[in-house]
This record gives sequence, C-alpha cells and structure tokens, in this order.
Amino acid sequence: MAKPSILVVEDETDIQELIKYHLSKEGYLVTCVGSGEEGLKAARTQPPNLILLDLMLPGVDGLDVCKALKNDSKTQGITIIMLTAKSSESDVVTGLELGADDYMPKPFSPRELIARVRARLRDKTTQAADEHTTIKINGLLIDPGRHEVMIEGRSVKLTLTEFQILHLLSRSPGWVYSRYDIVNRIRGQEAIVTDRSIDVQIVGLRKKLGSFGRYVETVRGVGYRLREAN
Ligand code: CA
Repeated sequence: MAKPSILVVEDETDIQELIKYHLSKEGYLVTCVGSGEEGLKAARTQPPNLILLDLMLPGVDGLDVCKALKNDSKTQGITIIMLTAKSSESDVVTGLELGADDYMPKPFSPRELIARVRARLRDKTTQAADEHTTIKINGLLIDPGRHEVMIEGRSVKLTLTEFQILHLLSRSPGWVYSRYDIVNRIRGQEAIVTDRSIDVQIVGLRKKLGSFGRYVETVRGVGYRLREAN
C-alpha cells in the first residue's frame, strides 16, 4: 500500500521540523509549507491524505484555508487536523463547523501527534465500511445496519445514544475518546448531548452490557475507550 501523504501547514520552522521528523520516522510522506497560500496551492496540486493545519498563519489564516479546502470538491475529502493554541477554543469550534476533522492543542508530544494522525487516517479508511459493517469484538456483535447489539446470541436493548457511543468506541478499540470527541461525533443525531450526559450514557451502557460492561473503560481525566480482550 502507498504510504499516506501528509501536508504540514505551519509557519514555525521548529514545529515543522519536529512534525516532519517524527511522522517520517513512522513511514508517512511529509511535505511542509509555511503559509496558507502555499498550503492551498500544495493541497490543490497534489491532494494529500491528511493536512496538519496551523490556525495562526501569516496572510491567509488556517480557518480560511480550511474553509477553502472544504468548499472545493477536489480537496474536501482531505482529513484536516488543526493545530491550535490553548486559548483559541472559539477557533476550534469554528474550524470543526467548517469541516475540520480534529484539532490538537499546542504543545503536543510526538506520541500524541502520531496517535492522532494514525487514528484519523484509520477513521478515513474504515468510514465507508463503518456505516453498515458488523463489528465483532470481545464476544459482542454490533450491527449498525440494524442498530442491534448481541451478546452471545442474546439481543441487548440500547438507546440510540448508547448504541452510537458503543459503535464509536468499538471502531477504534483502545483509542481514548474525550467526552468532547464523543459529543462531537454523535451530535446532530439526537437532541442535546452534553459532556455530563455522556457520563450518564456510559453508566447506562455498562449496566446493559452486564459483565461485558467492564470493557468500556474510563481513562481518568481523559475520557473513555473500549478495551480489547486478549
Ligand atoms: Ca503559527
């Protein structure tokens, strides 16, 4: 399989080099540019699999780059992870609304960067199949087409939100989703889902899964994940 290509749009050369070093080591093809204009040009000339997009750029800023890419049929399929300053929460929200797939607050560790890139690329490759593909994990059978979960042949009744959370977690076993991630990924499907209500949903979900509920793990201070039995 071809190596996934990543375009880094970042004006700080230190950060550029750091990203390039670590992602190249993981086998990705990394190209770096230092401005929004160059980023747009590079993405249009040869659309990469993923863009790491700094929001604070000289000239055309990151949000405008994101908007332009998501409004163009040639580039709208590219996964975008925004690189943001801690203080720019409203930019993050705007970016996600414009179609960015994820964000990472600076400073981030190389490990976080690699994990995030890997997860988002995996999302992309499995997305089409996800909609209808039945997942088998830890003795659970999750059938998205029927919105049905079976444990050892027995059907478990879940609410729509509980089902969506379980389906999300089970698509990337071991990957930790923050409450924000979860809210963001299942929003629009049901009226209002808040951080706090995610906790309530998880409690309900665990209870209904019985002894299998233990695989839905809380990662303190971070969020939730589905542990794979081994
Ligand atoms: Ca910058």
